[in-house]
Amino acid sequence: MTVRPVLKTVKGMPASDGAGVRLTRILGTPEMQAFDPFLMLDHFDSAEASDYVAGFPDHPHRGFETVTYMLEGKMRHGDNKGRSGVIETGGVQWMRAGRGIVHSEMPEQVEGRMRGFQLWVNLPSHLKMSEPDYQEFDDAGIPVETREGGLEVKVITGETAAGTAGPVKDASIQPLYFDVTAPAGSVFSEAVDPGASVMVVVFEGAVRIGDRVVEALGGAFLGEGDEVRVQATRDARFLLLAGRPIREPIAWAGPFVMNTRAELEQAFDDYRSGRF
Ligand code: MN
Repeated sequence: MTVRPVLKTVKGMPASDGAGVRLTRILGTPEMQAFDPFLMLDHFDSAEASDYVAGFPDHPHRGFETVTYMLEGKMRHGDNKGRSGVIETGGVQWMRAGRGIVHSEMPEQVEGRMRGFQLWVNLPSHLKMSEPDYQEFDDAGIPVETREGGLEVKVITGETAAGTAGPVKDASIQPLYFDVTAPAGSVFSEAVDPGASVMVVVFEGAVRIGDRVVEALGGAFLGEGDEVRVQATRDARFLLLAGRPIREPIAWAGPFVMNTRAELEQAFDDYRSGRF
């Protein structure tokens, strides 16, 4: 087994999106624009309602997937196909925008802490214009594997070496999305596809990966190998994200991620003409 080294570390960057939601951007910044197949990763965490109540009113997406994982709080989503629901603490929504969707993502709370992540996952060209699709699971529907040393691994998608499999299925990039709770001193190790892009995002405490220390809120982008090893230097919690790179040209403007400029123009035209 070859343990993956750290290629690059980043600190989260303050950002604002939607109608003025304060968040921290870890991926999709000038420092780290994308990490094929991942396009963007935002972390929101605030107990101040003014940081989140404005939410994300109606907006379109085409050509990729948005993955919302709620650590705490409730988010209501609704789309132009009449679908609506609430993602609650511990739940996940893996949404394939495909050929296009117009949706809103609004806090279902006016006080208390709201905390979670939104990840954008690119789609290969043959799926960019596919039908929109949702995979939604609440906290109880997502398995947690307990390991030696008090480690807990919540598996949203992918499968651990011990056979714990997450409920979300995504054949195109064969992703891993694990939420790992690691007491100080514990060592998390997992075999990973040597062909995958792998990142670790620390959102509580601090960890050591190889010779690098990564503190919350920060990310580490890993190099080649078939094993990931993360040691908690303090009580820590982190995401392990992995996925097969798509290796196609990216034409990206706001909420649309296509392969070519012409496809982007088509997306704007279709949206303006009400064809979503
Ligand atoms: Mn959205």
